[in-house]
Amino acid sequence: MLSCRRLIGQLANRSQLRCYATARLLDQRYVELTQKNGEQLKYPSVWLRDNCQCPDCFYAATSTRKSNWERGPLNVRAETVRFDVQRQQLIVHWQDAHESSYDLNWLQERDFASRQRYLDAVYKPPMQLWSKTEFAANTCEFAYKDVLKQDAVLLQWLEALAVKGFALLHGAPNDVHVVRQLAERIGYIKHTTYGDVFEVKSKPNAGNYAYLMTPLPLHTDMPYYEYKAGINILHTLVQSESPGGSNTMTDGFYIADKLRREHPAYFELLRSVPVNWFDIGHDGDAKKPFHSLWRAPIICLDVDGQYARINQNTTKRDSRFSVPLEQVVAWYEAYDMFMQLAQAEAVEFKTRPGDVFVFNNLRMLHGRTAYEDSPENKRHLVGAYVDWDIIYSKLRTLKFPNAKD
Ligand SMILES: [Zn+2]
Repeated sequence: MLSCRRLIGQLANRSQLRCYATARLLDQRYVELTQKNGEQLKYPSVWLRDNCQCPDCFYAATSTRKSNWERGPLNVRAETVRFDVQRQQLIVHWQDAHESSYDLNWLQERDFASRQRYLDAVYKPPMQLWSKTEFAANTCEFAYKDVLKQDAVLLQWLEALAVKGFALLHGAPNDVHVVRQLAERIGYIKHTTYGDVFEVKSKPNAGNYAYLMTPLPLHTDMPYYEYKAGINILHTLVQSESPGGSNTMTDGFYIADKLRREHPAYFELLRSVPVNWFDIGHDGDAKKPFHSLWRAPIICLDVDGQYARINQNTTKRDSRFSVPLEQVVAWYEAYDMFMQLAQAEAVEFKTRPGDVFVFNNLRMLHGRTAYEDSPENKRHLVGAYVDWDIIYSKLRTLKFPNAKD
């Protein structure tokens, strides 16, 4: 009885899933599928031929195309097209006697008109920019042990980092290896000229324990790298008992967006005028010298015009400003407005021992208020970086464990 019902259920599902569609050639350059509900899907012939799924054209095992374009399908015309309802496939006969078939599902997933759906779901989840007053509503918090042990929580944490630009973890042990464990939970720690795991501590002059730590103004780390560190993982082991030592942070993409809306001419200057970012010195036990130099504007956009990276670090901005003389004064005016907005929108919060503050170093400006160490209380943080290539890859493997192409 049960198995019979199951069979009927399967048949019902199958007929529900089966779509009726008609296919036609448009000017031999496009193939148009019209589904029964009237929805149309349209594909360029050259794209269909380039992505032929037959064994001669495509390695199913590795989901890769075989052709290296030597055979150039650009001028091969489709001769006839039809939709096979039984197989739920588009069938294309080409003028060179080749035949291709494409599953309807496969075609629907690659619909040119719905491309944004794929970009949002798989490429990068859309970012949510936030102002100072929206800070609390955008703060995501997780238990350190849950991130380490539960894939579902790891996914939520990485998604929060991608969407909100920061997140807080609580309950980490008093152990200098916490940041490495988190980085390796995602994938790989980033090595820089400062090593991999770094200590954030005041370095008092000998005999002077009451060392006043000056405030650290809003900045991003490593603007002088082409491959700038993606996220910063900062673990608080000992927090200052003095009034200061708080974190400050501004959503740099929100500031860029505000500038774009309210001062478009300033925005255009900060988007287009390159600044020289530099770092010269040596670090670590080996005392290896370094001379880092990267030229990039304050606001960097990606190919879609979306915010990709903010560069801001007063101490790493080179006095060699390699731009035409006429651009300099206007650039300073725009920069001044950007920094005014950034400071006005900065939030302040103080982490506690066991907290791990993680943020997008391409997006967030961060800083710290002044504090004072004492012999009994020395502020101690440990940090590490991970690149966004590694984070997005991990996020996708968690969201789509069965993805093949
Ligand atoms: Zn083929």
